Amino acid sequence: MQFAPIQKRSDQLRRAPNLEDYAASRSCFDWQAAAALEGLPGGSLNIAHEAVDRHARGARASQRAIRFLGADLAPADYTYADLKAATDRVAAALVRLGVGPGERVATLAGRVPAQYLTAIGAMKAGAVFLPLFSAFGPEPIRARLELGGARVLVTTDLLYRRKVAALREALPLLEHVLVLRTAPGSELPPGTLDFDEALAAGDGGFETRRTRPGDMALLHFTSGTTGLPKGVMHAHRAVIGHAATARLALDLQDGDLYWCTADPGWVTGVSYGIIAPLACGVTMIVDREEFDPERWYAILAGEQVSVWYTAPTAIRMLMKAGLEPARRHTYPALRHLASVGEPLNPEAVVWGVEAFGLPFHDNWWQTETGAIMVANYPSMELRPGSMGRPVPGVEAAVLKRGAEGVEPAATGEVGELALKSGWPSMFMGYLGDEARTRKCFAGDWYLSGDLARMDEDGYFWFVGRADDVIKAAGHLISPFEVESALLRHAAVAQAGVIGIPDPVAGSAVKAFVELKPGFEAGEALRRDILAHARRLLGAAVAPREIAFAAQLPRTRSGKIMRRLLRARELGLPEGDLSTLEAGA
Ligand code: ATP
Ligand code: MG
Repeated sequence: MQFAPIQKRSDQLRRAPNLEDYAASRSCFDWQAAAALEGLPGGSLNIAHEAVDRHARGARASQRAIRFLGADLAPADYTYADLKAATDRVAAALVRLGVGPGERVATLAGRVPAQYLTAIGAMKAGAVFLPLFSAFGPEPIRARLELGGARVLVTTDLLYRRKVAALREALPLLEHVLVLRTAPGSELPPGTLDFDEALAAGDGGFETRRTRPGDMALLHFTSGTTGLPKGVMHAHRAVIGHAATARLALDLQDGDLYWCTADPGWVTGVSYGIIAPLACGVTMIVDREEFDPERWYAILAGEQVSVWYTAPTAIRMLMKAGLEPARRHTYPALRHLASVGEPLNPEAVVWGVEAFGLPFHDNWWQTETGAIMVANYPSMELRPGSMGRPVPGVEAAVLKRGAEGVEPAATGEVGELALKSGWPSMFMGYLGDEARTRKCFAGDWYLSGDLARMDEDGYFWFVGRADDVIKAAGHLISPFEVESALLRHAAVAQAGVIGIPDPVAGSAVKAFVELKPGFEAGEALRRDILAHARRLLGAAVAPREIAFAAQLPRTRSGKIMRRLLRARELGLPEGDLSTLEAGA
């Protein structure tokens, strides 16, 4: 079931990539040089300065920094100079409210300008930005604001009334709530301040706080795919990793029009949906609306997106809608397509070529790593189904845990994907859980909890999360491999694979599949998919059972929640559902 490697032709590259020669870049890699940041006097470093202030002072002042697209694709643009002025006002307002260094400023607002301004403004003031996904219900909001110790929340009047007002008593640390009025002149909810009025008072500029590289800047909650979301702390030095990897793995260059489809409620939407593109001085798109194939193609073509960063679920949903809507447009500006968040099925990689003339480049990282760690680069041969090779400057390995600590797995052998400590965006730890933080490390190695194998050329191949892999009759079965095989069947749009108990083999494979439009769930189709899977995978690895699902349970960031499929199948407690997508 191998897909042929893909080497981009020079006409597909369109521009010389930033990373021209992988081996050469690794041999003399320097994070500072790769990130091309400015820094502040005395060795200080502040993300807001790198992302906004320095560009606003120079030649980029009048360049568009962010274009927000509203309903009907109506644009609202901010230049770098606009961003500086607006984030200065946010920072000044926060300081006037008494927000001190290291204190948490949260947002619950959707992809509106105020959320982006607050992110930068909070860091400018030396505070910590804590983004929340706006579709969360009251309980996940309460839990995160409480654990995060948020002092200020920026939200909308509607969200406040629906979700936050009733929580105020339970959140004694939450001193100020700034609200965006959805209708001008509408009544301000009691106990809140008007966001725009709070900002209006200060027009005197703001001197960005000279934070140290190790000072905390960001607090992110993980996606909750495997259990209770964890609060992950990141420092200002993470921007070195954001900028360097955006140049190397996403190939961001001057003049690029970049679109990251992730919501800032998740780490990708902040690291690569706010900080990295601005730190690289490109122009980025923020789509305020939800996923819709027609709309997305119109944005890619109409806005002349050159670099696009999205996620496997979105790509599979585009595939489900068929090629025809994609082919209604042309994409002459598009140069690089990248994906993160879940394993990217080889089928999806090559589908990119059919739809856009370009393959999707998978890359791997986690909330804890803060930035891309393993990637496929535009200049490097792409092996569909592989996450690629470590970012130059990152030492990655596949390790096995033994009685004596960890040791490297043999080439091709499955083990835990690990990273040598010391990359700039490594997390500071889990908030309030030092023991858990310690458990992630074995000596110098950070252990990711994901299983992978490395081939003889140093490409990493994802096998599954340690919690998700299936052990059947002594084999280790990768749910990703089985799901990818199922996806090659014409009727299958999405697949989630779990292990179910089996008295003989220990575990057997069960697959849940979502069908493409025009296919009817039924016995004949079930048999056909089973036969297809056996043909590709062999009887030992193919699913024993297949069930049809109208919609697989997914996190709001689009990841298939196999733990929930398992819990439901086995009648076990469902665990934390705070990040479960509605309707799943
Ligand atoms: P939680 O830690 O709460 O269970 P989560 O691990 O999904 O949630 P994130 O930090 O958002 O939270 O996601 C990182 C994880 O996503 C990785 O550990 C990996 O399992 C998966 N992932 C990300 N990118 C890829 C990829 N390219 N291929 C395979 N898996 C990926
Ligand atoms: Mg995780």
